[in-house]
Amino acid sequence: MKIEIVTIGDELLLGYTIDTNAAHLARVLAAEGVEISRRTTCGDTADSIATAVREALDRAGAVITTGGLGPTSDDLTKPSIAALFGREMLLDEVHLAWMQERWRTRFQRPMPESNRQQAMLPAGARKLVNNHGSAPGIWLEDERGRWVAMLPGVPREMRGMLADTLLPLIRERLGGGGLVVRSRTLRTTGVGESHIADLIATIDGGVGDVELAYLPNADGTDLRLTVRGALPGNADARLAAAAERVRSVVGTAVYGEEAADLAAVVLEMCRKRKLKIAVAESCTGGLLGARLTAIPGSSDVVRGGIISYDNGIKTSLLGVPKAMLDEHGAVSEPVARAMATGARSATDANVALAITGVAGPDGGSESKPVGTVWIALDMNGEVEARRYNMVGDRAEIRHRSAQAAMEMLRRRLLA
Ligand code: AMP
Ligand code: MG
Repeated sequence: MKIEIVTIGDELLLGYTIDTNAAHLARVLAAEGVEISRRTTCGDTADSIATAVREALDRAGAVITTGGLGPTSDDLTKPSIAALFGREMLLDEVHLAWMQERWRTRFQRPMPESNRQQAMLPAGARKLVNNHGSAPGIWLEDERGRWVAMLPGVPREMRGMLADTLLPLIRERLGGGGLVVRSRTLRTTGVGESHIADLIATIDGGVGDVELAYLPNADGTDLRLTVRGALPGNADARLAAAAERVRSVVGTAVYGEEAADLAAVVLEMCRKRKLKIAVAESCTGGLLGARLTAIPGSSDVVRGGIISYDNGIKTSLLGVPKAMLDEHGAVSEPVARAMATGARSATDANVALAITGVAGPDGGSESKPVGTVWIALDMNGEVEARRYNMVGDRAEIRHRSAQAAMEMLRRRLLA
């Protein structure tokens, strides 16, 4: 089955809102074996909505729209598509009564007059229940079986309606025993994508009959394996075989699968070994601590940390000698090492990670350009440190630094 997606809203065209609805729809539907053959975004005018949906219907015969179902004058999805299908708009008394009741019991006030709009439905439409808001979704089908499903723009409402109401309808049409699209993602960090590609090139027969995508990002490089048009059991078996092949050459560079967070991986490794972590952060300003403490249950591993942004704090709270700072500069190996050791003793932790670097855009020099970052790890008094040359803007350099620090600890614990 082929479906096209039309996302509606001026805010999407202006780049003000990122089109997460289309991404979510595509991911969920792909898992069901539906091919999303095209995505279109159009503005909030009746004309552009009608044109986009008509063209999509002509190509695919099945269209999902999001947005423009609200109660205000810029919400034109329903009347535009109703006109396309030659249907008039009728007041749905049942929905109107439901909304009035909802306002009375939930908000303790009368329903605003403009919400009546949401009870106007194209003749012959099927309502799609909205468990998270007041606008119903709409399913409209013509005599040739071509259909349009209209979902709300608010992402939470859209996701709920897709899962609760639309997916079951689509599954019905697909029939049982359908072919699926399945993916599996292996997450790596600290090794470049070309290096990984070279390693994978050494596998006899490559990754077999699955697609492999290299997805570099600020966390590292994700390796996404995909099988299309297969029965579920077969798809899973092929993915498992391919993942095994990749792991056989990439090895411990894989820190997890799917949405794995390196912070959670490292915390679990420390928890098993009964290790307590502390951090000392300069250029990341608490980002490493935030990454670690974002993981539920981190309190049994994380002791705390010091944001030693100013050199005076590096000296007073971490015990980094002033003479060392003067001689080597804040972004240097001895200072990173001293920060880690200082954080460990200040917090009584077993393990301390320290980060000091030039996040930019200013502050770089010839010997220490923007992106120069020293990271140190003190584990029970054994200290290691490494210089990194991070690429990207300020936000990326800071993110990559926190990630690299956690990876340094993971590597040490694997050793
Ligand atoms: P609407 O249903 O068109 O009134 O949209 C309501 C709100 O949902 C908008 O203000 C956006 O913030 C959000 N929204 C609409 N379309 C999308 C989309 N495709 N992706 C993410 N958010 C969206
Ligand atoms: Mg809108």
